[in-house]
Amino acid sequence: MAAARLAGNRRREQNPAYGLLRPIFPGESVTQQEGWLAAVSAASEEYRQLPPHLSIRVGELVAEIYLLKESFQRIAAKVDADGACARCGGLCCRHGKHHFSAVDLLAYLATGRELFTPDFAHQICPYLSFRGCLMEPGLRPFNCIIFLCDQLEGQLCEEARGELLTLEQELRRLYLCLELLLGNRFANGLLITWERAVSSGKGLFNY
Ligand code: SF4
Ligand code: SF4
Repeated sequence: MAAARLAGNRRREQNPAYGLLRPIFPGESVTQQEGWLAAVSAASEEYRQLPPHLSIRVGELVAEIYLLKESFQRIAAKVDADGACARCGGLCCRHGKHHFSAVDLLAYLATGRELFTPDFAHQICPYLSFRGCLMEPGLRPFNCIIFLCDQLEGQLCEEARGELLTLEQELRRLYLCLELLLGNRFANGLLITWERAVSSGKGLFNY
């Protein structure tokens, strides 16, 4: 019997985490920069229209997420992450484009923080500047915050590893809470989530 064909990624969509995203709609093609602006604009508008009880809850969740990410970074920094990362030049940032999710955008919207301007022509990551990541640790994408390469992880004591694991689990739980609250999956990154919302005719937030 022939093996069932796997659905795989959608047509014209590369690996969601690492591929080249160029949103394509019937008869229309937009650049990534345009896609970013459209996605941010759509999410901002939908955020503004959230009923008060939901926007309050979103605010509470992103505030918790911010603190957990800061804590994660404080522990990771104990192993001279800054020095090692500066020497390494940011190898792990090479595929960051789709790490920024709708949840990460919500953190900016709910706290009223000014959003950065990505550069999709950047060779490494659109959110990287000559001074490092455009986002402070508390606002950085989940994948970026929890990633520790072998070099850094090897320097951590067992206690610190345990603390990081607990923080990661809690972060996962809070990201899931936001997905359940707003009726969508956000793990694929803002650009892909937005493209799918447009294709399906639904909003980014479906509550
Ligand atoms: S976490 Fe590791 S791979 Fe990433 S920048 Fe730092 S040293 Fe380099
Ligand atoms: S978002 Fe920031 S931390 Fe993440 S890959 Fe890009 S530059 Fe690196």
